[in-house]
Amino acid sequence: MKDKRSHFSRRIFLQNGIKGVAGAVIIPDLLKSKFYSGDDKTKNKFVYRTLGRTGLKLPVVSIGGPESPVLIETALDRGIIHINTSPEYNKGNQEIMIGKTLRDRPRTSFVIATGFAMWKRPQNQIKNYTKENIIESFEASLKRLQLKYVDIFYLMGVSGRETVLHSPFMEAMESLKKSGKARYVGLTVHQNEPEVLYASIDGKIYDVVLTAYNFRKIYRDEIKSAIAAAVKAGVGIIAMKTQAGVYWNQKTQEMINMKAALKWVLQDKNIHTAVPEFGSIEELYTGISVMEHLELTPEEKKDLRLEGRAPQSGLFCQHCQQCNSQCRGDFDIPTLMRSYMYKYGYHRPLKAKEAIRHIQSSHIICAICSFCSVQCRMGFDVRNRILDVIRLQDTPDDILVSSH
Ligand code: SF4
Ligand code: SF4
Repeated sequence: MKDKRSHFSRRIFLQNGIKGVAGAVIIPDLLKSKFYSGDDKTKNKFVYRTLGRTGLKLPVVSIGGPESPVLIETALDRGIIHINTSPEYNKGNQEIMIGKTLRDRPRTSFVIATGFAMWKRPQNQIKNYTKENIIESFEASLKRLQLKYVDIFYLMGVSGRETVLHSPFMEAMESLKKSGKARYVGLTVHQNEPEVLYASIDGKIYDVVLTAYNFRKIYRDEIKSAIAAAVKAGVGIIAMKTQAGVYWNQKTQEMINMKAALKWVLQDKNIHTAVPEFGSIEELYTGISVMEHLELTPEEKKDLRLEGRAPQSGLFCQHCQQCNSQCRGDFDIPTLMRSYMYKYGYHRPLKAKEAIRHIQSSHIICAICSFCSVQCRMGFDVRNRILDVIRLQDTPDDILVSSH
């Protein structure tokens, strides 16, 4: 009975998904890819790790930013426990959709995380937000999720030590924890990961850090050491951006071996779980199947090109900030690059649009800039990528997606 429903659900999900993005982006031939080999007949083995001092025992594979009830239901039916979301996804509608989907499930059968998004204004995070902003945003998320409490509440997109240790932010997080409405609190980080991880130890109140981490990160060794130190102090660690941009080369559609990329992250036992964003049921099954054999095979190691220097290009922005000092404009290039990755790597144009919602297009002067002085360390054609994604700002949401 369960299998029948899964087959049916999968078909509907894919139909909706394909219909939703048609015309907006190129649909990849993911289903034929040799890297998407999971299927619903697999008798999956699950591997569990404990999320630091929270004591939560979670499968090492969780899901991030699910865009469909079918994906959530299938994941939970298959044994996934943890779902990560954000009030920023689909303007809060993702939280509403998750709330409706989970309504009839026992509250203790899932672990839900959301947060307060600081990444919409990454500069001067401290000046831009107050304790009250955080608490108001939390209450709104709780309402949309139709829950009495969330399991983990994050300060999202934190980019430096000063923000982590800012007293009003810590007071807000502590008061939410004390009220019982947030069982645990944490931080999410896309850049300056080592600094934020070490600061989380000093902050003492943060139970979890959700960090960008993958085999393509140039300073992955520093992140790994900082993760180890945080774990030693009792912090639970969750990994995101594990897919490293999906493509080696987006123009030739040369894909990264996603199973291998996820395994690379999970080989580090200090990563307690990861939250890949699965775009289809096939991708979900592939992610789950990683737990059957967490060791990288020699072939998978070869696929990740771990020997020698990994090639530049692809879609994964390192968030190294190197470009900021080279650009004549004053806008957030890494976020625009992330938007480009969402559009062409994840094939999620709405998410791509959301990522740049807070960037004022009037600040983006690429169209009138005589030549681009940015030398991206990944070799990105920054100017053309920016000119491509800013067009999303004028595209209505319903043209970009209809899979909810
Ligand atoms: S230099 Fe390139 S990789 Fe580094 S933040 Fe800028 S766009 Fe990203
Ligand atoms: S073209 Fe290059 S240097 Fe000029 S504003 Fe755009 S990103 Fe900056």
